[in-house]
Amino acid sequence: MWNSLFPSFPLVSALLLSNIARASFAPLAASTLPHLPRVEEEDFSIAAGSGGLLSPILIPRVPGTPGSEKVRKHFEEFFAKELPTWNVTTQTSSQTTPLSKGMKVPFVNFVATKDPPWVKQGDVGRYVLVAHYDSKVTPKGFIGATDSAAPCAILLHVARAIDQALSRRWEKMMKDGDHLLQEEEERGVMVLFLDGEEAWLSWNDYDSLYGARDLAQHWEQLYHPPMSSRKNHLGNIDLFILLDLLGSSAPLIPSYFPTTHWAYTAFARLEQQLRDAGLFLSHKANSRPWFHDINKGSNGIWYGGMVQDDHIPFMARGVEVLHLIPSPFPRVWHEMDDDGEHLDLDTVRDWATLTTAWMVGAMGLEEFIVADEKQHVKRGEGRKTEL
Ligand SMILES: [Zn+2]
Repeated sequence: MWNSLFPSFPLVSALLLSNIARASFAPLAASTLPHLPRVEEEDFSIAAGSGGLLSPILIPRVPGTPGSEKVRKHFEEFFAKELPTWNVTTQTSSQTTPLSKGMKVPFVNFVATKDPPWVKQGDVGRYVLVAHYDSKVTPKGFIGATDSAAPCAILLHVARAIDQALSRRWEKMMKDGDHLLQEEEERGVMVLFLDGEEAWLSWNDYDSLYGARDLAQHWEQLYHPPMSSRKNHLGNIDLFILLDLLGSSAPLIPSYFPTTHWAYTAFARLEQQLRDAGLFLSHKANSRPWFHDINKGSNGIWYGGMVQDDHIPFMARGVEVLHLIPSPFPRVWHEMDDDGEHLDLDTVRDWATLTTAWMVGAMGLEEFIVADEKQHVKRGEGRKTEL
């Protein structure tokens, strides 16, 4: 991503044209928070070969290289093994880069979706959790732990953490017949790992966001059947939640867009609740709120569009965006020491818990998360700290 004072896309008009996101967020009771699936230490181990969610991503993964393929395989195996009910697919484009000497490089976006079983593709809205999985070609051997290995691992955790509760909610709705009565359509969830975010030579409109630019265009042109409630595949995105440059301690996350400030506010409240409940692992080391913009009013200054990132081609087409990226960027940004050793693992695990909590609220999963926990305990698989 890139920080720029003068955005080159017509972002302002895109913002004016877009609808205000249909906000729905159920605040969580403090008593629910201890029931959120625990973030296991081994899932975010940084030791090579240790498995888990993160360590397989901590390798150079430049588009079109074996490292990139390996990381994609990690995602595929994770979903096949742990989340078999998710629909997994990839979308590939071939594009030249300033370094490819006219040769085409494959950019492969990874897409995993879980929708309510009764809804048609053309009628479903989704919360889309996004991170880029490619790493920068220079400096040689660059790992990009915050950029964006950790965000990818965090999203794998979130998907797994809400999976059972989603199934349970939808089973109950079908049993009770509620799914047919709802005024608002039930949402699905997508995890989207984009390829080719990084520039090869120097950031500009054509040397950056390779995967995102192609996918946004592709989905815009992919129409649903007539009579669908969503026009095209881009229309399935109710909110594009982009995580980037996360994993250093004490991030400061601005609220970038007025139309998604409701979602930002929900994050801020949950952060505070987790801190108050003693469930924020990094709190002792740093108690300063990450989501510090909670009181920004309508006449505040909104910096959306100044940070260029994977949301740009989607936002230019009217998609609502929540951008979770710190300002200032982490000290290690685009440096060799953006590696596993320089991650703050408490902060990484806090991001996993906080994002899970947000999804639990946004998807109406509170009672189902608690039910999951009780079931586990009954079967003797309970976690040590709760109940
Ligand atoms: Zn980067």
